[in-house]
Amino acid sequence: MKIYLNDQLVDSSEARVSVFDHGLLYGDGIFEGIRLYDGCVFKLEEHLERLEYSAKAIMLDMPWTREEISNAVCETCRANNLEDGYIRLVVTRGVGSLGLSIKNCDQPQLIIIADNIQLYPAEYYEQGLSIITVPTRRCNPAALPPSVKSLNYLNNILAKIEAQHLGYHEAIMLNDQGYVAECTGDNVFIIHKGELITPASSSGALKGITRGTVLEIADHLNISCQEKNMTRYDVWVADEVFLTGTAAEIVPIVEVDARKIGDGKPGVITAQFLEAFRGKVSLDGRKL
Ligand code: PMP
Repeated sequence: MKIYLNDQLVDSSEARVSVFDHGLLYGDGIFEGIRLYDGCVFKLEEHLERLEYSAKAIMLDMPWTREEISNAVCETCRANNLEDGYIRLVVTRGVGSLGLSIKNCDQPQLIIIADNIQLYPAEYYEQGLSIITVPTRRCNPAALPPSVKSLNYLNNILAKIEAQHLGYHEAIMLNDQGYVAECTGDNVFIIHKGELITPASSSGALKGITRGTVLEIADHLNISCQEKNMTRYDVWVADEVFLTGTAAEIVPIVEVDARKIGDGKPGVITAQFLEAFRGKVSLDGRKL
């Protein structure tokens, strides 16, 4: 496998980063997870815009233009003969001395990994998933803006551990005020009386690219949508619940905190969203 590292493609056995990289030492960096569908990098511009915003928010000066990164993504996919897959794009603060200061981190590192994707099992989509709310909260926006897709995932990892410990694959994370923020690696939507509702990013949700695509589809399907505070109660009494994410796409949820959602089967409106989403994926992005 070829990895893009420091402006060139290298064999994965040669792709190494320094132990002094602040990405490793402090989680000081940002990333994107992107899908390649049928030779089309889905929503590449949107991912690169989010990456630039994340970089700006953490004051990381990326020395590459958007076009250079975009070309590097495509080059990495082509070098690995991929038509479908998952792309992990990581930008670290780079090598520096021990200590939090970014002053002597002169050279950010760009790493691009493009590989086959481990798809979620088909039964998640056919039967729907059961999830629970876990105690670990999503970061307070005043501590770390949830829109920054940073290398600091420890609170989400703790939430995932809690979920798995209890036998679940995903979990709802609340924000510090007790409102629903998102799941450990996916955004959450409910449908109630025909209306689509999702937490605003100010509630602690990452502005997911799949989330944005679902909002576009809602517009297209003439389904009204609101971004607002959502309680666990709102989720429990929803007619349908689903999760969105680059790897997951759109996953129906059939049980939350032991409350059956709707009739306990994947929802019909959720299925409409999934169908519309899958119809878009190889058309909306950059061709290799
Ligand atoms: N929230 C979190 C915390 C995430 O890590 C992700 C990405 N896996 C998402 C939501 C979904 O975002 P996207 O649709 O851009 O993958």
